Amino acid sequence: ATFSKEQMMQYRILGKTDLSVSVISFGASSLGGVFRNVREQEGIRAMHTALDLGVNFFDVSPYYGLTKAETVLGKALQGIPREKYLLATKLGRYGDDFADFDFSAARAATSVDESLRRLGVDYLDLIQCHDIEFGSLDQIVNETIPALRKIQEQGKVRFIGITGLPLKIFPTILDQVEVDTILSYCHYSLNDASLEGLIPYLQAKLVGIINASPLSMGLLSQRGAPPWHPASDEIKQACANAAHYCAEHGEPIEKLAIQFAVQQPQITTTLVGTANPENVKRNIQWIEEPIDEELLHNVLDILKPIHNKTWLSGRPEN
Ligand code: NAD
Repeated sequence: ATFSKEQMMQYRILGKTDLSVSVISFGASSLGGVFRNVREQEGIRAMHTALDLGVNFFDVSPYYGLTKAETVLGKALQGIPREKYLLATKLGRYGDDFADFDFSAARAATSVDESLRRLGVDYLDLIQCHDIEFGSLDQIVNETIPALRKIQEQGKVRFIGITGLPLKIFPTILDQVEVDTILSYCHYSLNDASLEGLIPYLQAKLVGIINASPLSMGLLSQRGAPPWHPASDEIKQACANAAHYCAEHGEPIEKLAIQFAVQQPQITTTLVGTANPENVKRNIQWIEEPIDEELLHNVLDILKPIHNKTWLSGRPEN
């Protein structure tokens, strides 16, 4: 890996942390093979390509590929100087059933140690409670975050964040306890930009904002959403129509979708998932190009009937 092209990339500061993060970042769930069976070497090349082109933020979780993504990312990171990248992982989610969530203090401690070992590092830049809407928000406030502050004091993690789908989980937590970052997904995309409404609140609290899934986990792609995608048929169809419209006008919808997310300056970074080195290059090249305002206008028009529509996630009370 070489590190010569970093000047092309733009960086933004993540909330009140001192982390300077590339505006586009690498979602390593792709290394766990959640979208398709990815060959490990291709995933590692994708990660190195991102790093070469100035991406400095890598997000993973023990949940992705049930530890596979962390293990593959750890292999990719071998031999790279630790100060060349920022590493974020998660804890609390270890599967798809409610029984696979554990936000207890004891599990938080073992989880961080296991992640450090798989990733082959001695500290994490960011540890995030993963998909907290599946757990008890009271436990996150009173047990998990305080446990993570102790782990932070031990030097194992630099900053602490929370992730999840329903936007109201964020103020529920942040009204009660200090957290450094939030990771929201599928809420700052062409089809759903509802995160916008929460930005003033998050900025007032100096919370770093990470936006994931600018392609809405494949809804906004020419390939279309994967079979497990939780969106309704109405949402899937409208997004497919938008993708078709872009293709007819000679533009991939992926390009418009990534440009749209990255142009919002209050969002520090946009996490894109792909284990394909060519896609990594394309995604980074696209953010250098100006957005096609007319195409954007027409695509937003096609998506209007489903604008800001989403799906349920987690416990009903959250
Ligand atoms: P995404 O919107 O980034 O879409 C990923 C899909 O788009 C993949 O199928 C990929 O192959 C495809 N793709 C990417 N670039 C492409 C291109 N140029 N051309 C064609 N297809 C392209 O969704 P995601 O992967 O779910 O999210 C990105 C990352 O965000 C994840 O890897 C993860 O790190 C993070 N994330 C976190 C949470 C959470 O914490 N709860 C939830 C979702 C995502």
